[in-house]
Amino acid sequence: MTNTQVFHVDPHHPDPAAIATVAQALAAGRLVAFPTETVYGLGANALDATAVARIFAAKQRPTTDPLIVHLADATQLARVAFDIPPVAPRLADRFWPGPLTLVLRRAPHVPPNVSAGRDTVAVRVPAHPVAHALLSACDLPIAAPSANLFSRPSPTTAQHVLDDLAGRVDIVLDGGTTTIGLESTVIDLTQTPPVLLRPGGVGVEALRMVLSDLRVPDAPLVTDAAEAAAAPGSQLKHYAPHAPLFLLRGDARTAVQFIHTVVSALHARGLRVGVLIPDEEFPDYTDLRAELVGLGPAHDLAMIGRYLFARLREVDSLGVNAILVRGVAEDNGGGLGPAIRDRLFRAAEGRVLDAADPTTALQQLLRLIDATTK
Ligand code: AMP
Ligand code: MG
Repeated sequence: MTNTQVFHVDPHHPDPAAIATVAQALAAGRLVAFPTETVYGLGANALDATAVARIFAAKQRPTTDPLIVHLADATQLARVAFDIPPVAPRLADRFWPGPLTLVLRRAPHVPPNVSAGRDTVAVRVPAHPVAHALLSACDLPIAAPSANLFSRPSPTTAQHVLDDLAGRVDIVLDGGTTTIGLESTVIDLTQTPPVLLRPGGVGVEALRMVLSDLRVPDAPLVTDAAEAAAAPGSQLKHYAPHAPLFLLRGDARTAVQFIHTVVSALHARGLRVGVLIPDEEFPDYTDLRAELVGLGPAHDLAMIGRYLFARLREVDSLGVNAILVRGVAEDNGGGLGPAIRDRLFRAAEGRVLDAADPTTALQQLLRLIDATTK
């Protein structure tokens, strides 16, 4: 166990003295959790293989899952990558600092464990003032995956980090709630044409303005472990709460009926249910004997994205036996729809129930619940 120190800083104007202290800790090989605009990252000096190995140990992350390297600005790209295609600086101009990660060829002096042994490296320049101040102060590339325990929902507050990693990391830099709340979009520029590996904070339409030939796979999710190693970060059990989560397909009316049916069936077994719904739908559920948690206004995907992981942690902390989520509607143009659906789908480990076929859907749900609550 490590004695985890917490530093509180102003998210917009972090105290330079605190930043300097934390930057020194990073340079000395320590683990530091810090806020970015996407989620909190668990950082270590990317050029120090021992420090990088400590990230995997602290998170209990499989060593097959590569890390994203964070830089203070795009001029530092050549410090970690080589053979950089001309489109990379153009993407950097348009989207950095910001929630876009580029997979490039890894420079030989970057330790292989950063990239889980691949010859590529994922790179991003974050926009959060605290992350930027820290990266500038230490003047090092910082490897930083999300600062959660493996397969738990990503952390969007310093408290989430402490809930998962207190005693396992050296420093938590508390800079408040992250603004986007969903991880970065990852694109692989080492493939021709470039491929979307993970939907995230930058939408595909915006990316295609610069990268017209971007390939977006139909089903970026895989369930097989070998395939998951080939497409890191794509495994289904990701962001998962403790209680089994089920994603519902179907319109609001069919969902209301189905949710009532499920809650009654589980009540009869002495089990409690958590239900995540868009805020507008609360009036449909006033008589429901379940833990209701609002996802945010249905039309405001930025708001839903910002608090999605916090809501997943919240509903899970209520000690329910099952969680039902009304899927989020089609994209409203903000570009976050695919990222939100992707995170919910993984939190559900791929379990999607069709509310329009309630008999089958209820059977599917009860089979799993009965197996897990025995
Ligand atoms: P996290 O920072 O926890 O959100 O995880 C980083 C994710 O970035 C991984 O799970 C992958 O999806 C992606 N990634 C990082 N490095 C690479 C790489 N070299 N090649 C492909 N994907 C990568
Ligand atoms: Mg992660």
